Amino acid sequence: MHILIVEDEKRLAQIVKQALEEEGHIVEVAHDGEQGLEFASTGSYDVVILDWLLPKLQGPEVTRRLRKAKVATPVLMLTARDAVSDRVEGLDAGADDYLVKPFAFQELSARLRSLSRRKVETREATRLVCGKLAMDLRAHQVAFDGADVDLTPKEFALLEYFMRNTGKVHTREQIADRVWGYGSEITNNVVDLYVHYLRNKLDQKGAKDLVKTVRGIGYTLRSE
Ligand code: CA
Repeated sequence: MHILIVEDEKRLAQIVKQALEEEGHIVEVAHDGEQGLEFASTGSYDVVILDWLLPKLQGPEVTRRLRKAKVATPVLMLTARDAVSDRVEGLDAGADDYLVKPFAFQELSARLRSLSRRKVETREATRLVCGKLAMDLRAHQVAFDGADVDLTPKEFALLEYFMRNTGKVHTREQIADRVWGYGSEITNNVVDLYVHYLRNKLDQKGAKDLVKTVRGIGYTLRSE
């Protein structure tokens, strides 16, 4: 899953990020409400973990603005507040679930799985299709013309980004931000390398020239 953590307690954010990454997720962190809203507004996350008390913009307000902007990404609200009225306010604002701090990581992980299932089942297509290329988001599988393409999690994330934005040209910086996370300091060479891996695997299945280089700019996925 592609997960956004909006949490101003940097140590907690780092611990959760690391634990989620060990489970194979791609995780980005924002440290205040405004930045969290900006990231989450892209709609490119499977789930957002959102702290209640945040600098600049509080969690419920971030959720309210996201829902107003028609961003339906599931939101798991973290709160140190356990009063019923607080929980109701969070859910009313559009959060899908909440977890009271301090929490066990296993519980967070279980809630996230449940939220992401709900999203796939009710809110979004489970498949992305581009010509003969098909991606099953739930099973994490890719096929070209019916033949399975075996991708690593990063290659999968890269292809998912391309498939969600077919026909658009992306700079290497945009790809690095969206696939590796903002501020990940991934060099252009690394992006080029992963595009190369992805192309090789697609080529082997007969999907030639799907990912095209746009000279001087970056890459695009050919939409057939
Ligand atoms: Ca906080």
